[in-house]
Formats: sequence, C-alpha cells, structure tokens
Amino acid sequence: MQDFNSVFSNPAFDQHEQVVFCNDSGSGLKAIIAIHDTTLGPALGGCRMWDYPSEQDGLRDVLRLARGMTYKSALAGLDLGGGKSVIFGDPRRAKSKALLRAMGRFVESLGGRYIVAEDVGTSVADLKVMAAESRYVVGIQDKVSASGVIRNGDTSPATAYGVFRGLCAAMRHRFDRDNDDLEGVKVAIQGVGNVGYGLAEYLHRAGARLWVSDIYPQASQRARDELGAVVVEPERLFDLDVDIFAPCALGAILNDDTIARLRAKVVAGAANNQLAEDRHGKMLMDRGILYAPDYAINAGGVIDAGCEYEGYEREKVMQRVESIYATLLRIFERAGKEQRATNEIADEMARERLWHRRKASDLAA
Ligand code: NAD
Repeated sequence: MQDFNSVFSNPAFDQHEQVVFCNDSGSGLKAIIAIHDTTLGPALGGCRMWDYPSEQDGLRDVLRLARGMTYKSALAGLDLGGGKSVIFGDPRRAKSKALLRAMGRFVESLGGRYIVAEDVGTSVADLKVMAAESRYVVGIQDKVSASGVIRNGDTSPATAYGVFRGLCAAMRHRFDRDNDDLEGVKVAIQGVGNVGYGLAEYLHRAGARLWVSDIYPQASQRARDELGAVVVEPERLFDLDVDIFAPCALGAILNDDTIARLRAKVVAGAANNQLAEDRHGKMLMDRGILYAPDYAINAGGVIDAGCEYEGYEREKVMQRVESIYATLLRIFERAGKEQRATNEIADEMARERLWHRRKASDLAA
C-alpha cells in the first residue's frame, strides 16, 4: 500500500540505499539527505532549500530528485551515483551560517557517500559555509565561461555548451545538418537566464536566428541588443514557426496543450523535467518532433561539478561535455530503430549502464 508518510512505502521510493533525516536543534536545521544509488560512485546532487508545505512534500521531492541524479550521471558516463538533499525552510528568512554549518557536518558524517552541490535556494556562498565543515562540497571553485568571464562555482557555462552540442546532434539526426552548421536555423528559447543566454551566444555564433522570451524583460532585451534576437511574449513562443524549441526556464512545460501547438521539429533545451508526464515523450514522437531528453542534454552541470570533485581542469570538463553529442545520437538512433520515445530509451540506457556495473562487481566479488 502506498503511504505518503512513510519512506519505504512512499510512491517516490525506488530502492533508495539510504535516507537520512537530519535535525540540529541549536540552528533549527531540519533536512533530509537521500542517497539513491552508489553503484557507479559517490552520490552527487544539489541541496535544495525550500519552504515545503509539509514534511511529506519535502520527502517526495528529495526521493524523486535523488533518483533523477542517478540516471543523469549514469547516462553522462560519470562514475558518480545519485543523491540529493533538502533543507526545510524559506531560504530568504530561515538561512543562517549556523544552519549551513550544521548541514555541512551532516554531509561530512556520511564520509563521502554524498557530495553536495548548489540547487534552488542555496548559493555558492552557502556551499562555502558548508565546506568549512565538510570535504564533500562541490560548485565552489572559479570557472571560466565561453566568453572568458570567471564565474565563481557556476556550472551554467558547461551546461550551456552541452545543450548547444546536444542541439547540434538533434539537427544532424532530424535534418541531416553538418556538425555545427546552424546557418539560418530558427530557434525559440524560453528563458535567457544563465544557461539560456549562454546557449543563445553559441547559437548566434553558429549563424542561427533567435526568438527569445523571458518573464524578466532585461534578460530578453539583452539578447535582442547583443545577439539580434527577436523578443516574443512568453505565451506566443510555442506557436512560432521555428525549427527548434529550446526550453531553458521551467519544468513541465511540455504538456497536452503546448505540444499540440508546437511547430518546431526539435525540442532541445536545458530545463529539468520538461515533460509534464512521461507519456508526453510519445506524444512528441507521434507529432514528428524529435525530443532531446532533458537529463541527457543538460548533463554539463553535473559533469562540471563531478570534475571539481576529482580536481578541476577546464579542458577535461569540455571534453566530457562534448560526449553529450554522441550520447544523444545513440539515443536518437535507437529510438528511431525501435520506434520508441527518446525519453524511454534514455532511461533504458541509464539502467543498462547500472546493470552492467553491478554485474561486473558481482563477478569480481
Ligand atoms: P536562471 O534562473 O538563470 O534562468 C532562468 C530564466 O528563465 C530566468 O531569466 C527567468 O526569468 C526565466 N523564466 C522563468 N519563467 C519563465 C517563463 N514562464 N517564460 C520565460 N522565461 C521564464 O536558471 P538557469 O541556471 O539558466 O537554469 C535554467 C534551467 O536549466 C532550469 O530549469 C534549471 O533547472 C536547468 N538546469 C540548469 C543547470 C545549470 O548548470 N545552471 C544545469 C542543469 C539544468
């Protein structure tokens, strides 16, 4: 029987290895760390701070997100497992140095089974406070973006490059376009924040024509002024006659309504959890739209964070991010051959990698 109050019977529970409830009465910290699977290596994932309406909501979120990280790292070819943590509370009011240090101590207490990174509600500065207590913190080192700007701990330049390469793979599969030749290709980008803007820069350089929308007017205006993008009202973006739709803002934006309206032939963008439900992957396929599974194309961030754990080298990061191109081609080819949705194939490929690693360890034991 499904029981939202329990862990083992929770609908979001999927054989998670370890779920740790953390309480520090001095600082008021209440948190959950979920380690889904460490078959491939230590579980890496962000720490989300959110004012969840209930403990059950936080538990469901952390279980679901931790499992997602296992699949993302497995498909990206990383020797990392999947984990995530949530801190209960409004990050604007309930956050304190004492609370973050307490969280760092809990992370440290797991001895490296869980490596923490940034997520919604936590910042690089917060992670640096945790790092005073734990060796298992990533996303705090300086990085150089494509335009040479140093960004403190920011994984978005690597994510943007990965999405660009994944988008090139989709163009090659769907339109037989040569590698990187995007001259005249029409792209609509939803959200030109850190990743969306970085993607827009790569696309502009490759000769693509851009349409952008953002609920924050300064963001879209910058894309218009610097990259010649056409600014569109957020709601109109789905109806545009473009080749590619690149969701780089919110999750769950591919649903019955928006998929029916899309005129693009490819969906390739950075946002997490783009499909409102799994069945929408099939709906895209039935409409002849090639969907680049979100966690395959946006893996640049976890690749970047994982490299930081090993000892950061930008060249190594970029080489690994480059592999997103080949991974997506494999997904597209297999989906085409088996006439199945690309999101189903991505999940299957991630599970296969875990299965092979488990089998190899069983044989070695
Ligand atoms: P961001 O906050 O910098 O940018 C998001 C942008 O989307 C903002 O400018 C915001 O104003 C805009 N936006 C929000 N709602 C919108 C709407 N309805 N229509 C149009 N624009 C809207 O975030 P980011 O770091 O660029 O991440 C973008 C997406 O990519 C998120 O879904 C994130 O989870 C995902 N992602 C990011 C990374 C990373 O390394 N930063 C890695 C993997 C996945």
